[in-house]
Amino acid sequence: MTGFLKELHVGRAILVLGVAVGLMGCQGDTKGDVEEEEDLNDAFAELLLTEGKADGATCSGVRPPDNSGFDGRIALTFDDGPDLVRTPIVLAVLKAHNATGTFFVNGKRITTDAHRDLIRQMIVDGHIIGNHSQNHLNASNLSADTWRTEVQLTHDILAPLLAEAGLTPTFFRFPFGSTNCTTYAVVTDLDYHVTGWHIDTADWCFNSSTGGYGYCAESTFRYVPDEYRANFPGWVLSQARAQNGGILLMHDTKSYTPENLDAMLTELEEAGFTFTRLDDVDTFPLLNGVTPPRQTWVGDPCEDHSECDFLSGDVPGFCFTYQTSDTNELFGFCSLPCDGYCPDLDGTAPTFCAESPTPSEGICVSKAYPQNESCATIPGSQARDEDRFILESGATPSTALVCVPR
Ligand SMILES: [Zn+2]
Repeated sequence: MTGFLKELHVGRAILVLGVAVGLMGCQGDTKGDVEEEEDLNDAFAELLLTEGKADGATCSGVRPPDNSGFDGRIALTFDDGPDLVRTPIVLAVLKAHNATGTFFVNGKRITTDAHRDLIRQMIVDGHIIGNHSQNHLNASNLSADTWRTEVQLTHDILAPLLAEAGLTPTFFRFPFGSTNCTTYAVVTDLDYHVTGWHIDTADWCFNSSTGGYGYCAESTFRYVPDEYRANFPGWVLSQARAQNGGILLMHDTKSYTPENLDAMLTELEEAGFTFTRLDDVDTFPLLNGVTPPRQTWVGDPCEDHSECDFLSGDVPGFCFTYQTSDTNELFGFCSLPCDGYCPDLDGTAPTFCAESPTPSEGICVSKAYPQNESCATIPGSQARDEDRFILESGATPSTALVCVPR
């Protein structure tokens, strides 16, 4: 192994951690794979040099669109199969835990009727079969045409098998989590949902012949804290707790994984986690293409506090009520207390911390923006320049056109 992870500066290393994990996660576990392993490291080093393209803020093959609200639910996913020996062991363990999994398979590994029959049985048993491309190449440096072929070849293997059950291939995972915006678009244009992960089990590292079986060496993967280097279930649990659930990444081609899956799942269950499916729209709405209704937010009309049932951190919203000076009508809009700054919510007008008519109280108000039709959607309000309420925040003084009582 090379020490490439150590050569990264910290900010970069954290940014591409998911890529590193995914890349390493697809190494073989036999001596014959050492050469392949070195190739992967070279590919990864190159990937780092072009990191912005490989896994940018958009077009990411690692970061799932949903990143909270899992409520302890975990979707189990397995990459790089099928494997005629190891995948059935994984299936038996899942059955014992009454869990289903998603298996991101590589077309190059589906070579015989036995492989196809295995996939058929997995479908019948309720598991989800996802596309992991044909040859497990690094999509960050491939052309659109090459990548389309990689996706299509595996799609053409899976589609007829899934059609027997009335299903179509839906989920795609990039090998190594590695993308660029071109190859990402190829996948979404084929109507696949790109599926990253939240919890990396690092099963590939614990499986590693270089680190020693059941021991994840720092030279192989430095992000596992020392206390977990010989404690695979503990490491996974710590990662699951960090996000309170989410999508969990494993490999059903590693011998270590099926052998330790039962212990790992048991540890998660005993800690209160439950297992769900990748197509659970309540847990992963964005991944499944469902746009959840927008939550109530600053500037939404209200009559009492119960209608402003949102939180900013642990600060609850409230209904700011007012009487218009011209018609003496009573209105209200949702707000938050503030000192200098107010949070914004995607899809809504930006907010601004202004001084309420009650002296020395900052309240969040909406800026006059297209989203509120320049205050027209906030009854009894008008657009007016207001100074920022600063008090003790040290915020820079500024003025903004905001929606305030008429
Ligand atoms: Zn893979």
